[in-house]
Amino acid sequence: MFIAKTIKDIRSFIKYHKASNCKISFIPTMGALHDGHLSLIQEGQKLSDITIASIFVNPKQFAANEDLDTYPKTLETDLKKLKEIGCDAVFIPSVDDMYPDDFSFAVNVTSNHDILCGVARPHFFHGVVTVVLKLFNIITPDFAIFGEKDYQQFYIIRKLISDFNLDISIIAGEIIREKDGLAMSSRNKYLNQEERKIAPQLYQELNILARNIATTKKTKDECIAEAKENLIKAGFDKVDYIEMRSSINLRLQDKADNDSRLFAAVYMGKTRLIDNIKICKND
Ligand code: AMP
Repeated sequence: MFIAKTIKDIRSFIKYHKASNCKISFIPTMGALHDGHLSLIQEGQKLSDITIASIFVNPKQFAANEDLDTYPKTLETDLKKLKEIGCDAVFIPSVDDMYPDDFSFAVNVTSNHDILCGVARPHFFHGVVTVVLKLFNIITPDFAIFGEKDYQQFYIIRKLISDFNLDISIIAGEIIREKDGLAMSSRNKYLNQEERKIAPQLYQELNILARNIATTKKTKDECIAEAKENLIKAGFDKVDYIEMRSSINLRLQDKADNDSRLFAAVYMGKTRLIDNIKICKND
């Protein structure tokens, strides 16, 4: 596996492979890799000749009060996992290489950045698209694979690609979960033993809510209020949001249809967990 620590190095790797018409898949990550990340690499391998991952904890998507400094870093293990799975190259740029002192731009998202996760993290999606656009320009991939775990992010990046006419196909990877249903996340490392036991109830409660919305006479809002109450009773400290929205356009919905998705963010101590599930309505 080729390890590129500079933009120059990854560009020469890409130039070499593009010269022989190789198709490239790209999977951006912030490291602390788990099976969710690796499933995206495997998706990439199915689609292209060369699969490139990046590991970069992007300071522009963290607010001052967030976990930039404590974000889990497990580079040695990450490299081992990538190598074992047969990833062709990994790009690990430095902050200085990505954002030199005189870096003068930011990509400003103008829709869907201020709902769901964007309410508690207003800076977040601007930071994400800024780094992703840079990474896309550096890697020039044919395919980019993003996880549905961060569905709003996937949605916004897909819009970035279409609005800026980038010649990249974006592919969604399904959410990979622990055996008990907890969506895998690098931030799960923050959970203590007690919190880790409670955490899977987020997914369980989303499934109960999906059933309730489809089957009871209660309104969607009543069902959601009940789910929020259950999560607090289960031991979560705060529910940031639970919302039903369309997967197609992220608009809020009152009635479920075949494109509906439930989105949730909760706090467990200082740890913010997010998850989402598709509602399958068979009528
Ligand atoms: P991150 O390292 O958290 O920035 O995530 C990098 C990529 O991995 C993003 O496209 C995420 O949506 C995706 N990802 C994170 N967790 C999972 C998961 N449990 N299943 C599938 N993809 C995931």
